[in-house]
Amino acid sequence: MTSSIYYRIVAAQPAAHLFAVTLNVDKPAANGQLLRLPAWIPGSYMIRDFARHLVTLSAHSGERALSVTKLDKHSWQVEPCAGPLVLNYQVYAFDLSVRGAYLDHERGFFNASSLCLAVVGQESQPHHLEVSAPESASGNWKLASALPALAVDQAGFGCYQADNYDALIDHPFEMGCFEEVCFTACGVPHRFILSGRHHHADLARLARDTQQICEYQIRLFGTPAPFADYLFMLFVGSDVYGGLEHRNSTALMAGRDDLPLLGDDSLSDGYVQLLGLISHEYFHNWNVKRIKPAAFTPYDLTRENYTRLLWAFEGVTSYYDDLTLVRCGLIDKKRYLGGLAKTVTAVARGSGRLKQTLEASSFDAWTKFYRQDENSPNAIVSYYAKGALVALALDLLIRRDTAGRCSLDDVMRALWGRHQQDGQGVGETEWEALASEVSGLDLKQFFDLALRSTAELPLAELLADAGIALMLTPSASASDRGEVVETMPDSSLRAVLGVKSVSDPLGVRLQQVWDGGAAQAAGLSAGDVLLALDGLKVSDLDKALSRYRPGDKVSIHAFRRDELMEFELALQGGVADTCRLLLQNDGGSWLE
Ligand code: ZN
Repeated sequence: MTSSIYYRIVAAQPAAHLFAVTLNVDKPAANGQLLRLPAWIPGSYMIRDFARHLVTLSAHSGERALSVTKLDKHSWQVEPCAGPLVLNYQVYAFDLSVRGAYLDHERGFFNASSLCLAVVGQESQPHHLEVSAPESASGNWKLASALPALAVDQAGFGCYQADNYDALIDHPFEMGCFEEVCFTACGVPHRFILSGRHHHADLARLARDTQQICEYQIRLFGTPAPFADYLFMLFVGSDVYGGLEHRNSTALMAGRDDLPLLGDDSLSDGYVQLLGLISHEYFHNWNVKRIKPAAFTPYDLTRENYTRLLWAFEGVTSYYDDLTLVRCGLIDKKRYLGGLAKTVTAVARGSGRLKQTLEASSFDAWTKFYRQDENSPNAIVSYYAKGALVALALDLLIRRDTAGRCSLDDVMRALWGRHQQDGQGVGETEWEALASEVSGLDLKQFFDLALRSTAELPLAELLADAGIALMLTPSASASDRGEVVETMPDSSLRAVLGVKSVSDPLGVRLQQVWDGGAAQAAGLSAGDVLLALDGLKVSDLDKALSRYRPGDKVSIHAFRRDELMEFELALQGGVADTCRLLLQNDGGSWLE
């Protein structure tokens, strides 16, 4: 069958970062076709208004030019015509992220949600997409996507087909001179492509480790995997990080220094973080791509889609990402617990955890978590970080109270069993009900506390039962984010200001000023640049404060914008907000 909707995408002007798009609609709506670009992309819960990057748009049918009326920020109405209707437009693509579109002379990347106008009313029809390389590109350019290919050349350029618009925007494309490696996991072919400048990366090791992650998770939910093939698309650069999950592919970004190097078998923190990202996005194949909130079935791409369940989709996934690594043997228990200590510390350091519940954090993701500012630690809690701790606490609670007969794994498998095919989505109260049903435990009190209150989680007592001691102590230095220890330390006598700071050409710039801290009490604000402490220039805040004890009075000179200000304050003792974990003999058996 020939599709009535056909997009031709040309990487037309790499130097100007412009894709040229031609859209053919065989049978436009009789009363004038409506066209619309999504306001957001599933998986990234923020209104991004992709249509703002559309720079020209014209329509014609045969020889006749058609008038186009803009209806709102992302909708266009074309005057009626018998068809076929042809639209021509360009899209500016210079967003180096996994969410939008990017084009330069070295590389192109796009989500169809940035480039392909939806033909309103015909979204359920098959959509064809033809992609061409820039004329200026070298002969080495290739194109990759998990979307089924209809007729493509050896490099992958040509025509692809999506069953509907929803599928079209769930298969990003990467083009350029990328490297690639293939492997199978539980019989499913996987392709891993790597783009961006790098040297001596050990792609075979990356593939081997990724394969272990894939096989573990496929077996966790049960074979066969819910997809026939899978594509990892990793771009490496500097100061980039992130991932976006799709139904049988994922787009990832990481620092090039996080790649494993040929001839170096060490396990750097950066590489562990990269494996954690891979594990996280792959787990989403089940948790959010197929088991999804009812609020997302179907997605409404014109506006915010509210749910109080993001903790269950992002928090639980964050719990399983590193858990997969330790259960596969890619990291040991100590390395795993080091990461857990950092998550506990990150949550403990934000007084926002005392003001925003996890359900509220989920609900307000669109305007709060995704739009953070200098005050966010004082105002919100992350549904990723606290959500992961709730998942851990729930797992330990179920294991303890069922004497090991049941675990969070069983809850996830039950969700999968119920939702893998029904297309219904998880109702707002269903997740909790199912966890109680599967475990046979009354979990209401736990969920009320964990999701609908700001009370502290009973993590220390649950971990103690699992053979791990947890203690919060003051930090030992500004870079101390929590760790695994052999013996529990004494509380330090470090004097602190209650800030997060970064060095600045003039001194030290405050990035965050925390509730209850000495700096906030004295009137210092985020953005202030500290110049001097008691008349001496500050360049290293930790070092400068090491000369003082808690309670000491100091005077601080600082610039706020271009205005010099002086503050008097009493330094505080460190707050017990830094996590120490101690693994007892035979502790942590659930990590095996
Ligand atoms: Zn995620």
